[in-house]
Formats: sequence, C-alpha cells, structure tokens
Amino acid sequence: MFIIPKLQLEDIFACAQCGYCVKKCPVYYFLGWESTSPRGKMFTLKEILGNNSRLDEQKIHKLGKPLSMRFFSCTFCGLCKEVCHVEVDLLEIWSKVREVLYELGIVPESIIKLSETVKQSKNIYMMDNTSRMDWVTYTGADVNFKDSAEVVYFVGCITSFSGRVQSIAQAVSSLLNYVNEDWTLLKDEWCCGHPLVLSGAIREARVLAFHNVEMIESTGAKKVVTGCPGCYLALKHEYPRLLGKKPKFEVLHSSQLLSTYITSGRLVVPKSDITLTYHDPCELGRISGIIREPRVVLQSVTDTFVEPEYFGRESICCGSGGLLKAVNPSLAESIAQRRYGMLASTNVEVIVSACPTCVQTLAQTATTMQNGKRVIDLSQLIAEQVGLM
Ligand code: SF4
Ligand code: SF4
Repeated sequence: MFIIPKLQLEDIFACAQCGYCVKKCPVYYFLGWESTSPRGKMFTLKEILGNNSRLDEQKIHKLGKPLSMRFFSCTFCGLCKEVCHVEVDLLEIWSKVREVLYELGIVPESIIKLSETVKQSKNIYMMDNTSRMDWVTYTGADVNFKDSAEVVYFVGCITSFSGRVQSIAQAVSSLLNYVNEDWTLLKDEWCCGHPLVLSGAIREARVLAFHNVEMIESTGAKKVVTGCPGCYLALKHEYPRLLGKKPKFEVLHSSQLLSTYITSGRLVVPKSDITLTYHDPCELGRISGIIREPRVVLQSVTDTFVEPEYFGRESICCGSGGLLKAVNPSLAESIAQRRYGMLASTNVEVIVSACPTCVQTLAQTATTMQNGKRVIDLSQLIAEQVGLM
C-alpha cells in the first residue's frame, strides 16, 4: 500500500473535473483521449483511491501497463498546473504516481532501460563517464579543472555528450573566461539525477545528488551555473528534497548569470540587426519562473526580438520533456513540429532557446522542414555576438 501525502490527497479530491487543463495539454492535443488528459488522470486516481488515502497495489497491478503509459505519456510541461483554477499541483501528483509505479515495477520498458543506464554509467547515454569531458577536445574550448573556485560550471549529460549541442558548453566556457570569472568544471561530474526523478527512481537519484553536492562543495564554490533547465531544477529544487538539506551553494541558470553580467556592465554585447524569437523552455520559464532574464539578454543583442504565439508562462513544450521522447518518440516529434511551426511563423532569422534539449529537438525538427530555421542556445548567440565563436 502506498500512502499519498495529505496535501496531494486533498489536491486529487479538489479537482472539479472542469477540463480547463484538458484543452491546454499538448499530449491530449494529439492523442485526444480523455484517459491521457490531466483531468482523465485525476479521475483515474480518484477511482483507484476510493475512500482511501492509500493507492491499492492490487488495483494498480490490475490496471498495469495501460495505466503506466498514461502517466508516462506526459511532457511534465506544467501547463495543466498553470491553468488549474483550484490550484491543484498536478506536477507533484504526476511525480508521486511515477514514484509508485517505479516502486511497483510497472513503468515502460524504455524507462527501466534509462534508469539502469544512469545508475550504471552515471550518464544518460551509457557512455564511459570518463569521456564526459571529451567535448573540450572536440570543441577546443579553454576550460579549468581547479581544486577551488568561486563558480562551478555544471555541464549536464546532454550538453556534454550530444554533438549537436556541445557548442553550448563551448559558449558558456568562453563567456566565463571573457568576463574573467574564477570558475571550474567538476573533475567527476555525474548525471544530475533529474531523469531518475522523472522516472520515479528517487532512491537512485539520491545517490547522484549526494555525489554531485560533495564534488561541488569540495571546491568551496559559492555559485553553480548550468545551461540545462533540467540540471537547474535538480540542483536547486530536487537536491534539498532528496538530501533533506540545502546545499551550501547558490544555483543559477546561465541566462541568469549572463543577465547579471550584462546589466552590471561586466559583459558588453554589440547590438546587431538580427531578427530573433525565443522559445521559453517549460522547466526554465513556467516551472522555475526564469522568464525575464533571457529577455534581458536577448534585448542586449537586438531590437528586433519577436515573441512567438504562446510565450513566458504560457509557452508550449518542445515535446522532449518528461522523458516522453523515450516513451513515445512519434508523439514527441508531433509536439515538436507543432511548436517549431509556431516559432518559425514569426518569420525571424534565428530561433533561440535556453536549454540543450529544446535546442536539440527544435534544431532536429528544423532539418525536416523546407527552409528550416537556425536554432541556437542563448549562450551561443551571445558568444557569437561577442566574437568568441
Ligand atoms: S504536464 Fe503537460 S503534458 Fe503532462 S498532463 Fe500536464 S499539460 Fe499534459
Ligand atoms: S483544471 Fe484543475 S480542477 Fe479542472 S479538471 Fe484540470 S486538474 Fe481538475
């Protein structure tokens, strides 16, 4: 029997089944099945719970794989939570359910594979983790491996290993050097653990959190900067919960650090007449509330910055969140095409985002389109404008 915490139990029964969330859900938009909509999933949970505060294992086992697929067919974009008029924290509920499903061993095969991969290799690609810093050789970046520094740059798995976005690590490193920051990479960075949290593998995520915090704190760094919104969420919000204590460092997304450099005059970016639009990553914008800072950075580059349809807190997912790409790649692709279409219809030259996953997904989608747009990360845009890349 799994006990649902009181707060979430109240939330589940507070759901008025109004359906505001249904119309917003990107998964429902394509599947059209009530059972995979946020309202449908809330209804299912009420049915399983009955008059209990416990999730009956037998009932869950009976519903089995179809139930599991419903809760893993979700980008964790948080739009349902955003529009819920009774303020149900749906993301907390989805997380708790995934945790229960993982504990019971009824998660999709691809999720089991992914969590085993991260547990064994300490990254999401089953690569030898000692090759994590090979991007330095590939990009020719000038980096530091110091025993102590003011700032740690936490690169993250996708930026470290995926050739399409290693330029983000190169850009962040070159900008840190350009402003003479006292910074270092970690000598032994592990996956941040966010993919494990999304899988429901909480105990396994804790092991990674413990290691990374120990590594970061050993440098005495006051700040950790990352360009990945998933790593940001893990380091800032998930680690204190996983470890039961707040780490001794401040966590910043690269857009926040760049915005501070620019507003303080430490980084001067030459203006250009380039036309841009910006895709707010769900985990950075809506979920972490970092909406203003990327725009401060963008507006330092150009006066011709165009907001797309749905932006800021209302931004729509690129399709790769919540591990959906691992569970249902074709659905993830459809969501990506829809979002790419909205961004491309602004008729700008370049689509900018601030997340390696969003950049990778949208850039990949652009290659399948006629006259596909250039898609780059905010840090790369700035490094290019300053003449570092
Ligand atoms: S988090 Fe996003 S994808 Fe998941 S149920 Fe809510 S709106 Fe749908
Ligand atoms: S918007 Fe909130 S109250 Fe309405 S169906 Fe969705 S979760 Fe329930």
